[in-house]
Formats: sequence, structure tokens, C-alpha cells
Amino acid sequence: MKENMRDMRRRWFRLLTRPTFLGLLWTVFMLALFTWSAEQEKDHVLRLAERQARAFFQEIVYTRAWNAMHDGVYVYVTEDTHPNKFLKAPDTVIRTEEGRELTKINPAYMTRQLSTIAMDRGGVQFRISGLHPIRPENRPDSWEEKALKAFEAGNLEGCFAMTGSPLGQVFRYIAPLQTEKGCLSCHTQYTLEVPAVMGGISVTFAASPLLESLRETVSNTHIAFAMIWLAGLFGIVFSSHKIQKKTRQVEEANQARSLFMANMCHDMRTPLSGIMGLAERIRRRDLPGDSGGLVDLIESSAGSLLEIVNDITDVSRLEHGRLTLRPHAFGLRSMLQGTLEIFSFESDRKGLSFSWQVEDDVPDSLYGDDFRLRQVLANLAGNAVKFTDVGSICVHVRRRHDRGRPGQVSLDISVTDTGPGVPDAMREVIFQSFRQGDGSLAKEHQGSGLGLAICRQLVEMMGGRITVTDNAAGGAVFCFTVLLDEAVRIDGDADSGARCLLEQAPVREHELVPGVVPQSILVAEDNPLSQIFFQEVLEEAGHRVTIVDNGEDVLMELRNGTFDMVFMDVQMPGMDGLETVRRIRSETRPWFPREIPVTALTAMVLPEDRERCLAAGMNGCLAKPVTGADLLIAVAHQTGLKVDIREESDAIRR
Ligand code: ADP
Repeated sequence: MKENMRDMRRRWFRLLTRPTFLGLLWTVFMLALFTWSAEQEKDHVLRLAERQARAFFQEIVYTRAWNAMHDGVYVYVTEDTHPNKFLKAPDTVIRTEEGRELTKINPAYMTRQLSTIAMDRGGVQFRISGLHPIRPENRPDSWEEKALKAFEAGNLEGCFAMTGSPLGQVFRYIAPLQTEKGCLSCHTQYTLEVPAVMGGISVTFAASPLLESLRETVSNTHIAFAMIWLAGLFGIVFSSHKIQKKTRQVEEANQARSLFMANMCHDMRTPLSGIMGLAERIRRRDLPGDSGGLVDLIESSAGSLLEIVNDITDVSRLEHGRLTLRPHAFGLRSMLQGTLEIFSFESDRKGLSFSWQVEDDVPDSLYGDDFRLRQVLANLAGNAVKFTDVGSICVHVRRRHDRGRPGQVSLDISVTDTGPGVPDAMREVIFQSFRQGDGSLAKEHQGSGLGLAICRQLVEMMGGRITVTDNAAGGAVFCFTVLLDEAVRIDGDADSGARCLLEQAPVREHELVPGVVPQSILVAEDNPLSQIFFQEVLEEAGHRVTIVDNGEDVLMELRNGTFDMVFMDVQMPGMDGLETVRRIRSETRPWFPREIPVTALTAMVLPEDRERCLAAGMNGCLAKPVTGADLLIAVAHQTGLKVDIREESDAIRR
């Protein structure tokens, strides 16, 4: 799940940093911005046109008001100004003392006259229209009629539109014309007491000048946007290329680091395997004087080194999401006993009191990855013992009832010590890889700084969290929660697939050395220490052992001799173990032992390494360092000896 999330995040990051994707995103963004800005510009031009139309309208309204205020005005009768035949008022035409004719001009007549001048000189047309016109020419067109009807219905807001006309695109504005005192002399049907809409005045003028300027602005914006788009595109493509290059470099560096860590672990595991194996053999002999103590020292130093190697392996696997939980049923209390007993001895040696307590409501039969749970517990308990000089260490397990679904058990496990505690500033840091509370060269305690980082990730994989707080009595309290399933307690059937607890004891070494049915075993191993170890263990158990150090010799021995099984190192000079087993399986000579059981011995411990071994044709796989018990279990397993193999050892597990 976590791996999927990580993969998904990586895929998204790759997609988001791809130059074509970013370029496309940028183009779409710029197009949207350009469209929006062109729309804004058009809106702006329309608002400008409307304001201009209103101003024209207002001008004519003021002029008409002046005319109406004087109850009409007299002007000379000319070719263009004839008496208004629709004007019902008296004295429509009067004569001056010199005998020139004057005619009365009312607001409507004046509007028409001004419209003619405005049209001729400025391309602006004013028009009076009404739903009940005195003059037939004042009949409204369809746009005006719609607006006039709205005015009569009480909506006195002016109307603005850009429409097509025989003259091309025009802006039009119409607003209502309401009764005023001066109007009543002609429009006798109205009264001042009830002001009414007499009609409307519309203003029409050509849209082309403003539209032309709009087109010009938009095309300038176009050019500006195109330039910004190009510059941005260049920047994005350039920098995303750089990011991709850097990401690739980081990924390559990570891969190189992982490879280095894997190789380093591999190369350390092989000699460690030999050292530990030999130390185990030497300890069995009658040793003079304090030699036993020296062997113990060798074993414990090799053990510490192995711990670091295992930690580095785990960190590398966690980083690449390759560490998966392998749940099965287990008994909590016996698991705690087995894990914590060792620390109890170590505490005794330091004069500390060490205790653990499991509350009664915590079920014993659980289903989960007890190996990883033990790893977390051992790390915390080990740290507590390491950092505490006086006082006590207590492990407490309680059940939380507020978490988990039915059938799940949420455990709160705390390890409390009376050591120096963890300063506030370090509480986050210590859970990061390679970070220690005391980074000084003169630090008192050994350690790689990986333990808590591994614990944090394992706990998170088990659905919990890990924290550190102060112990009120001084010291630290490391507390973690995990979600496990409740196991059903049934006896026997290990293959049922049920989440069951097998009530069987772990295998003991003495059970495996019965000395019965001696087997003939071929061991392919190039490390001299490991060769001695394998030979000693297997011969002591009564088996016949032939040792070779490369794949070619394995094939030769199998051709010439008779063997019951092969232990095969995977990495050997010349033909490696995988190639050798492939050749064995593909041999065509009928007498060749094509089906002989082969167990891989490998210092590579990732699950895929094991898969590779099995895919090449191995029957089983042991991870180094292997103990004598591991070897004998494998012999029993492969040759069908009657030995119960009930629990994987750490070597098989890792
Ligand atoms: P290591 O112990 O190998 O250095 P860890 O990851 O287990 O690495 O711990 C990191 C650091 O956290 C330790 O170096 C130490 O400073 C601090 N620490 C861990 N456990 C305790 C503890 N019980 N009391 C005080 N400090 C602790």
C-alpha cells in the first residue's frame, strides 16, 4: 500500500516535471488568460459605448428641457424649417415687424432637426418613437418597441445593445421620455399629476470606430501574450529539463547508494558468516584457560557487526518499499518472554531492575508479523538497557479499545527507563536514519543511529505510531501502537490458511543431530572460513561432505560422484551459483542427477534475491550468516529426514 503510494507519487512527479506536459499546461493557461483578457477588453469597449450613448441621450434631453421650459421657441421659417403641421398650438406661425415668418419649434421638432445635423456631421441619429405616435414616422422599430413596452410596464431603465443594421454594426441606446409641463400643450391626453411615459428617445451610432480600436487592442494583446508564452515556454522546458536531469542524477545516486549498501552488506555477511560459524564450532571444544572468553568476545563483536549489517539492509529495503510484513499467528506472552529475557540478563549485569507486564484484557493469540514486532521491541529494550546506568526498565503492554475494527487488537506498548531521557530538541531527529542524540566523537554509547528509524517505519507499516516522552521519574518513555488481528486458537493444521496459532515448540538444535541416515553432501563455497564451518557442522552430524569453490567443479563432481544434496553459494568466482543450478536442471544426460535438491547460500537477503534463486532452480534458500542449526534443518528439509521443522530461523527468515 505504502509502496503503491510511493510509486504513484513518483509517477505523478515524473509526469508533472515532463517538459511536454508542463509546456502544454503553460499553453492552455496562456490561452485561457488571453481569452479572458480579450473578453474583458470587449466588455470594456461595450461599457465605453454605452456611456457615450447615455451622454448623447442626456445632451438631447437637456436641449429638449430648455425648449420645453420656453414652451417651444420661434425660429425663422426657412427651406429646412417649415411650420410643423402636427403642432396644434395657437400662433404656430407669427410674423415679425419686417414681415419675416417665424414658426414655433417644439421639443420633438427640435429633436428631429438636431438628429439630421448630428447624422450629417457626426453619424449619430436621435429618434423619438412611441407606441401611440402622433406622427407615423415615429412608429418604433422592433427593438425600440420591445424597450418601449418595458418602459410602459414600469421598467424605466435605459436599454443598450449592439445590433446589426443596413449601415453595419451599430450601438443603440433608448431611454423613456416622460411628461413635462411643456409637453402638455401638444400632448393633451397627459396630465402633470400622473407623469407618464410618452415614448422614448433612441440614440444610434456606428460601432465600427470602437470595434476597430478593440480589434487593434486585442491584436496588440495577442502579440504581447505570444511573446510571454514563448518566453515562458522556453523557461519551463529549460528548467524542467534541468529538474529531470537532477532527478535522474538523484535517482542514480540513490541506486548507486543502494547497490553500494547491498554489496557492502553482502561482502560483510560472507566473512561474518564464517567468523560466527567458526566461533560457534570453537566454543564446542574444550578450550584451555580464558580462551572461552576470547571466543565469546569474537562472537559478540561479530554479532554487533551483524546487527549493523542487518540494520543497513532493513533501511535499504524500507527505503525502496521492499520490506513487506509477513504475518502469522503467534502467542504474545511467549513472544515477549523470548524477546525480553535476553535484556533482563543484560540488565542484571548492569544492576538494573527489568520487568514487563501485559494487562489481563490483552488477548494472547494474535495474528501479525511477530518477527518485526520483536525487532521493534528488542530495539527499544536494547536502547533502554544501553542508555540506563541506574534504576529500572519496564515494558508495559495494554490494549486500546478505541482503535481498530472488530477482530482487530490495538496494542499500546511502552518501554520506560530511568536513563538520561531524550531532550525535546532531539525527539523528532532520533527517528531519522543515521541520527543520534549524541553525535560527538567522544560519545559514550555504540550505535549506528538506524534502530529508531527502522522502528518508526515498521510501526507505521503495522498501522501505528511511535513517540518518545519524559518519564516523570527521569528518563525516557518510548511508546508505540500497533494494529494486529486476533487469532483463532486451533490445534494442528498449519496449512489451513486460517489465522491460527500453532501450539508447537521451536526446533532445538539437539533434535537435529540424531546422526541417523548419513547423507552425502556437496558444498560449493569459496570463502575458506565458511568452508571449514560447513564441513565441521555437517561432518559432526554424521554426513559426508565434499567441498568445491566454483560452479564448474560442482558440475564435475555431480557427473562423477553420488550426492544426496548440494549447498551452493550464489556468488562464486567463474560460474556463479544461479548459472550452475540452471545447468544442473537443464542437463540432458540420463544418468546426471538433474533433480538433486540444491539449497542456495546467499549473502543477498532481499525477497527478490530469494525469488531469483528459486526461479533459477534452487529448492531452498539460506541467508548468511547461517548457524549450524540452519544447515541441519536445511539438510533435513531437502533430504526428507524425519525432523519437524516448525519455525524458521532468522537466517531463513531474512
Ligand atoms: P543507536 O542507538 O544505534 O545510536 P537508535 O536509532 O536506536 O540508534 O537511537 C538513536 C538515538 O536516540 C540514540 O543515539 C540516542 O541518542 C537516542 N536514544 C534512543 N533510545 C534512548 C533512550 N532509551 N534513552 C536516551 N536516549 C535514547
